[in-house]
Order: sequence, then structure tokens, then C-alpha cells
Amino acid sequence: MNTLTIDQLSKRYGNTAVFSNVTLSVAPGEFVAIVGESGVGKSTLLNCMAGLDSWDNGSVALSGTDLGTLSDDARALLRRQHVGFVFQAFHVLPHLDVAQNVGLPLMLLGKPDPQAVASMLSAVGLEGLGARLPQQLSGGQLQRVAIARALIHRPGLLLADEPTGNLDPTTAAKVLDALMAQTRQHGAALVLVTHSEAAAARADRVLHLSSDGIRD
Ligand code: ADP
Repeated sequence: MNTLTIDQLSKRYGNTAVFSNVTLSVAPGEFVAIVGESGVGKSTLLNCMAGLDSWDNGSVALSGTDLGTLSDDARALLRRQHVGFVFQAFHVLPHLDVAQNVGLPLMLLGKPDPQAVASMLSAVGLEGLGARLPQQLSGGQLQRVAIARALIHRPGLLLADEPTGNLDPTTAAKVLDALMAQTRQHGAALVLVTHSEAAAARADRVLHLSSDGIRD
């Protein structure tokens, strides 16, 4: 069964179409990059994949469950269990330390696991930094916190929106390495929205989004 199946998805604001006829599927463990001009709707599409945004036509299914058939609560629970997110602006919570940030998805699922957090921190190169506050970290380290947090609950799907966009090229390459290595290790599928040709070149498949659809 596909991790993600999108069929004929369309989204508009008022009379303005953002995208239409978007059909794609992502297999378990697959790494798909989505590229396209600024404003074409890449972030919006990523949010639709997690049921964080609404659409006008078509359907989105996560592991065979049609998001359109679920209540808001059921959709939030499915997202919490099966999806991880990494954003360009990190979105690490400033008042929680590194270990608390990484452990948050487990807390929300009622399954705290300090040992899993510690081993995830070493896996992403943050060993010994669990007690630090985010303000004491570099951009590259903050994004490693976000990657660890996105995968700690072993979701089947990781959605990443320009995760290296705020990083210098050397740091960006290392963070992408960590993101890919951890995603593969956890067997998760990865959908990466990016402007970076270097990042897209590493994907199993590159999809080009434009206003009238999406194609290889
Ligand atoms: P991308 O990620 O490809 O740069 P976005 O998904 O951020 O594109 O935005 C897609 C389009 O939707 C843009 O043209 C943007 O201006 C428009 N848009 C986003 N949010 C809203 C909104 N709340 N109301 C109207 N238009 C919006």
C-alpha cells in the first residue's frame, strides 16, 4: 500500500487556482523531491498531504486512509502518529530544552521515552546537548533537533519544507545527509520541497509542480 496517494487534487483561493489536477503517490521508504517556481503552491501541497490545509477537489490518503473522510480530531491523531515535519525556520520551541523538544511527539502520544530521545540525539550528531536551550545552538544544530523530533515517533512519512534553506551550503549538505540517513534508517518515506538542485539530485524521484499539475 502507498504511504501517500493524492488524486486529482485542486486548491484555490477565491477565484484564483493555486494548483489543479495534482496526482501522485509515494511508496513506503521512497524519497520524492518536489520542485517548482516560488508561489506555485509547494508549501500548500505539503500542508494538504498532512491534512493541515484544505482542498477544493480531489483526495489525499495516508496509508490508505482518505483524510477527507475523517473528523478534525481523527485527522490530527493520524497526523500525530504517522507524519513528521521539518520546516525551513526550524520551529523548535524556545522554552524547552533540546531533549524536551525531541521528546515532544512521544509526550503527545502518551509514550515518553528518554532513552529513545538520547539515542536519537546521538544518531543526529547532538550527543550530550540534550539539556541545552535552542538559543545555545547553531542553525545546523537546530535543524538536527527538528529532524530528530520529526522521526522520534517513527512516522511512515516525513514532510520537509525547504529544510536547508536557512543554512550555508556546507552545513546544508551535512544536514541533508543526516535527514536522508535517519529517514532511511527509520524506513520512512520522505517528501522534500526544495529549491536546491543538489538536494533534488539525491531524491529517488523529482516531481515538478506547476499551476496545471505535477509531472516527472
Ligand atoms: P510555494 O511554496 O510554491 O512558494 P505557497 O504554497 O507558499 O507556494 O503559495 C502558493 C500560492 O498561494 C501563492 O501564490 C500564495 O500567494 C497563495 N496563498 C497562500 N496562502 C494564501 C491565503 N491565505 N490567501 C490567498 N492566497 C494565498
